[in-house]
Amino acid sequence: MALIVQKYGGTSVGDVDRIKNVAERVQETYEAGNEVVVVVSARSGVTNDLISRAKALNSTPDEREMDRLLTAGEQETIALTTMALHSLGIPAVSRTGSEAGILTDPNHTRARIKEISGGDLKEQLAAGKVVILAGFQGHSESGEVTTLGRGGSDLSAIAIAAALKADLCQIFTDVDGVYTADPRVVSKAKKLQYISYEEMLELASSGSKVMQNRAVEFAQKYNVNFEVRSSFNRNPGTIVKEEVKSMEDVVVSGVALDNKQAKVVVSNLPDQPGAAATLFQSLANADVSVDMIVQNIGREGKANMTFTVARDDVVRAEKAVQSAFSDVGTGTEFESSEIAIVSIVGVGMRTHSGVAATLFDALANTGINIQLVSTSEIKISVGIHPESAEDATRLIHSAFGLDTV
Ligand code: ADP
Ligand code: ASP
Ligand code: MG
Repeated sequence: MALIVQKYGGTSVGDVDRIKNVAERVQETYEAGNEVVVVVSARSGVTNDLISRAKALNSTPDEREMDRLLTAGEQETIALTTMALHSLGIPAVSRTGSEAGILTDPNHTRARIKEISGGDLKEQLAAGKVVILAGFQGHSESGEVTTLGRGGSDLSAIAIAAALKADLCQIFTDVDGVYTADPRVVSKAKKLQYISYEEMLELASSGSKVMQNRAVEFAQKYNVNFEVRSSFNRNPGTIVKEEVKSMEDVVVSGVALDNKQAKVVVSNLPDQPGAAATLFQSLANADVSVDMIVQNIGREGKANMTFTVARDDVVRAEKAVQSAFSDVGTGTEFESSEIAIVSIVGVGMRTHSGVAATLFDALANTGINIQLVSTSEIKISVGIHPESAEDATRLIHSAFGLDTV
């Protein structure tokens, strides 16, 4: 007997028939003699729909109320999935995040998990029940409902698997596994059999939404191996685990596209020590994450700073920057435009040279202009115009030989 955590994403529980399909798959796992915890997301589209309703009523909705609202999506699917299992004669019981003791910090809409007691999950499993757990949610010390950031049901699954020391953690989604690029953008993308935590984390942080980046970070920290696979067929998926030596033979494992970024130019900053610190501190205080950064040469005692932020954070970033420099008197200006970031990721980059040259060549040959570049040990990212983003992704995929892996 094994303890298995299975997570089903939004499309997998998208309607009544799909919930029945999930219940049947859970039944199979349960009847094979396993203990099963099932983490479910909201039906696909529900979370987005709730967000747009909130924004129709208030452009900056209160974050506590947002969490109240958004957790309703998962509340629906835990109850429906449990009912579907009851119809199949399977003893099942639903639990919310707080009932499962998922304790988080109080940061509404992006809370971090602090501790997981598990609530009565062990007792329920020991009593022969399947537990259906609401993904994406937890509670703070003061008992407030919190959510774990978009795509957070992945994190719920990985975290509960770690807390319960599960034997297996399976992330069921609407694709067969992790591909060399988003198969919806690159039709020639290939499914990977294995990928290291590190590469999966870089891909997820660079726009491959097949896994939430924080979930991968958690998995790496607690060494939770997991499999990403489809809920619509029986094909084996992709195993995400620690790096093994042979992974370095491949230079580029995947290409990611993030088409929801903005390029910000802050001009007329005082060109003196401390200005950059003030700028980025003000953004950090406003909880805005900054990615690529370029400082331009200062003229007439002033400097410009260019960086990228998530498009959703632009308004917050602008407010933060303006309030930080309102008293400086240099006429600091804030400008933003849409940008797409395409990244190549691979642990093999540590041991191979010429990777950046191949990337820049591929783009130059087709006249795609690079606006920003950033590199890390296993990733190179370029910022380009959103209009050429999908073409660039296909082109780069092909330039690194991934079309024919
Ligand atoms: P779920 O609702 O199951 O959590 P998501 O929509 O969050 O599913 O993630 C699955 C989607 O991720 C796929 O439909 C696919 O379009 C997208 N995706 C992006 N990059 C990749 C990749 N490298 N491999 C597989 N899927 C990817
Ligand atoms: N329902 C949440 C979202 O759409 C969490 C998830 O699906 O993982 O972000
Ligand atoms: Mg997801």
